[in-house]
Amino acid sequence: MKSQEFLETASKGSITAIKCGTLIDGRGGKPVKDAVVLIEGNRIGKVGTQDRVKAAPHAEMVDCSRYTLMPGMMDLHIHTAMYNCMSFHNHRVAQFEIMPHLQQMYALFHAQNCFDMGFTTLRDLGMNGPRGLLVNEMCAVREAINMGIIEGPRMLIAGFTTMTGSHLDLIQPRAMYRWGFNTADGPWELRKLARLNLLAGCDVIKTCASGGGGTDKEEPDIRNMTQEELDAIVDEAHALHKHAAVHCFTTQAQRMAMKAGADTIEHMVFHDDETIDMIVEAGVPVTPTLSHRTDHAIELRRELGTADFVLRKMKYLQPFCFETFRKMHKAGVKIAMGTDMGFEPHMGTNAAELEIYVKLGMKPMDAILTATRNAAQALKREHELGTIEAGKLADLIAVDGDPLKDIACLQKKPNIKLVMKEGKVYADRRPGKNKNVVNVKPGEWKIADYL
Ligand SMILES: [Zn+2]
Repeated sequence: MKSQEFLETASKGSITAIKCGTLIDGRGGKPVKDAVVLIEGNRIGKVGTQDRVKAAPHAEMVDCSRYTLMPGMMDLHIHTAMYNCMSFHNHRVAQFEIMPHLQQMYALFHAQNCFDMGFTTLRDLGMNGPRGLLVNEMCAVREAINMGIIEGPRMLIAGFTTMTGSHLDLIQPRAMYRWGFNTADGPWELRKLARLNLLAGCDVIKTCASGGGGTDKEEPDIRNMTQEELDAIVDEAHALHKHAAVHCFTTQAQRMAMKAGADTIEHMVFHDDETIDMIVEAGVPVTPTLSHRTDHAIELRRELGTADFVLRKMKYLQPFCFETFRKMHKAGVKIAMGTDMGFEPHMGTNAAELEIYVKLGMKPMDAILTATRNAAQALKREHELGTIEAGKLADLIAVDGDPLKDIACLQKKPNIKLVMKEGKVYADRRPGKNKNVVNVKPGEWKIADYL
């Protein structure tokens, strides 16, 4: 037997050793039984089997020997400031009853719910309201978390940068008076809007190259913006070393996004084989957002007062989305998990997206990779996130269950026993522990609109 490895302790801060029953490290290989992960400060030190890797005697031991340890999950397409069904009865009323300041509080609350459920990174793809874009509010949520004054996941915030009458403009009622500079037209005006969003501190520019699904009186297959406008927006994001996420339903939009150099393609929805091949060739990650397409999602929208036109449109889109996902997966498109959660389903159960992938033919391990390694790659942060490997930030979760046999186990809060971000434990629901990020339960809080 090779000599046992002992961790040096000198001047590296706190050391934690997590023993687990099974380790899924996020690299796609075979799970490792009886593993240990050593954490020095906020980073992973060593990883291996318990007979090979030993913690120093003074290391804090965290016993997860009954659980599966895996990287913290990431949702790359979420709208935490949306009028959520957990917090509002009717989104159309909420749009005019809720001040942006309260929307900001809900964004934090929703993010914390996801964090409590094992989502250590969220890429929030933005929101607006009758008083304009919520970039400042969302960046403040991110900053407060980063400063450590409130608990929450790592957040990357997007600023909407779209044309007048775009899909994202139509989140707001069509007849609502629009004031302020929230949409723009022409490459230079759009550059200005992008620059203002970047000035506010956003990490990502979110834009639309086509129509969409969840908004009133808008056909999903229309074009949003010209190539020249899209090029300008993506170029502006890249000039400041930020990313551009492009909402694309049509193959025309997908091709426009690739031509512009988009960092991620959102949704897909429609496809043709040639465009899928181009996406594989270009290596652009796609976030499919299928949670948003289920019958369950449509029913939740109905309960929230969504117009019948939209519900019919969502039902019409459903088979296209599922078929496109199958084709993309088969063709080898790099899929990074995103839910498009906002209204639905309940915030925190984001891993429902993975169950849909598995039902559509993806292996459970590959589904887990979409929310870990692939997501980190899509964010271009694979050097520090996405897998449990030496040197990476210690974002990990312990799960009571085997997600490779039952991917749905990731959707139940009692199963998520431990949530660690950057070496710090934020949720600990192991026997004898009762540490949660969010301590109120669904049903215990009041609904915020006034029906
Ligand atoms: Zn979205």
